[in-house]
Amino acid sequence: MNNNSLKCSFCGRKKEDLTILISGINAHICGFCIEKSHSIIHHNYINKEKINKKKLYIDLSKKPKNIKSFLDKYIIGQEETKKVISVAVYNHYKMIYLNEKNIDTCKDNSIEIEKSNILLIGPTGTGKTLIAKSIANLLKVPFTIADATSLTEAGYVGEDVESILTRLLQSSDYDINSAEKGVVFIDEIDKISRKSNNPSITRDVSGEGVQQALLKIIEGTIVNVPPQGGRKHPEQKMIQINTSNILFIGGGTFNGIENIIKERNNNISSIGFINKNKNNLDRFFSKKSILPLDLKKFGLIPELIGRFPIITCLSSLDKKNLKKILIEPKNSLINQYKKLFNLDNIKLSITNNALDIIVKKTYQLGLGARGLRVFCEKIFLDYIFNIDKIKDGKLEITKDIIINKIY
Ligand code: ADP
Repeated sequence: MNNNSLKCSFCGRKKEDLTILISGINAHICGFCIEKSHSIIHHNYINKEKINKKKLYIDLSKKPKNIKSFLDKYIIGQEETKKVISVAVYNHYKMIYLNEKNIDTCKDNSIEIEKSNILLIGPTGTGKTLIAKSIANLLKVPFTIADATSLTEAGYVGEDVESILTRLLQSSDYDINSAEKGVVFIDEIDKISRKSNNPSITRDVSGEGVQQALLKIIEGTIVNVPPQGGRKHPEQKMIQINTSNILFIGGGTFNGIENIIKERNNNISSIGFINKNKNNLDRFFSKKSILPLDLKKFGLIPELIGRFPIITCLSSLDKKNLKKILIEPKNSLINQYKKLFNLDNIKLSITNNALDIIVKKTYQLGLGARGLRVFCEKIFLDYIFNIDKIKDGKLEITKDIIINKIY
């Protein structure tokens, strides 16, 4: 047969129109058909073999105090938030347990425990993401982080909200049963606020539109999810995910909400509900006194606010806590660097004065604990680059070295 008259035995495309045409004994296959076959096999694999009914291990002996002790190992400070979260996680455990076993110890089937999604409000770098991740570790469930700013209403440029569930499914290795009990952290949820406090007349596809779309998945429903992500299209095979037991944790800085709280409290105090005692007002002005009403004014739609019954605020990290973060958690930055140097048989030490300078500079930077990494990278860059020049297997970082590197 003339080489040019070769064609794919499956789709009939001619060799000259193809970049790949593989020959078998009596047939040929082109790149398009290979891809198509791969996707068919992969879908069948996902749908038939991988959907196993793995049970989630639920340890009801872990009481809220034990959960908080677990969080204490990773998260410094934020005591109130850790307490609130511990209770929320404990209740979440129980809800899943009851649903899974289909038992009702109260013998009252009319009482259904609803899940309580959590909204974390606090400055950047104070541990919002870390808390969500730690909870997923504790529960041993799949976890994913979604950035609310990359989402748009279906049909517009950007990601559909279902992509969040695709990622959760991927992180559970396509085990639907465990994905359905996973934890989703929606970061920057404050950035999808409505552009104005009134319902929009024009379309607000990255603000209110996304909130409406999120609402559907957060409130607990069965969602058709494209297993490979991307836009939904009619021929695509979908996987159904029930979101009723997925714990959603929203996080955001909500910059400027203080002014809304202040305004509300001014109104209250001006009509005489609270006396103008300065301490009293200061307390009310703090983010800790956020009410759902303030979030509505900020631009979240009431239905979405209603889906986050637990609202907790994280505080800025002071120097004492920044220092603890640098050295205390198991996975602290200094411990990570020690491990890195140790792999080259170098014992890293850092003096207390040196730590204090890093903390001072980080505090001034105002990026929360994120700033610690910025400075550590600066300090250690040259040492790691010239690691072969470190003598006697020892490296001591002193105050003078730090001043030299970061001032
Ligand atoms: P955000 O509040 O912006 O979500 P992250 O949780 O991503 O902040 O924190 C950034 C990094 O800073 C984390 O990886 C963690 O190492 C550290 N960090 C922030 N806050 C804390 C904290 N309270 N305790 C321990 N580490 C923290």
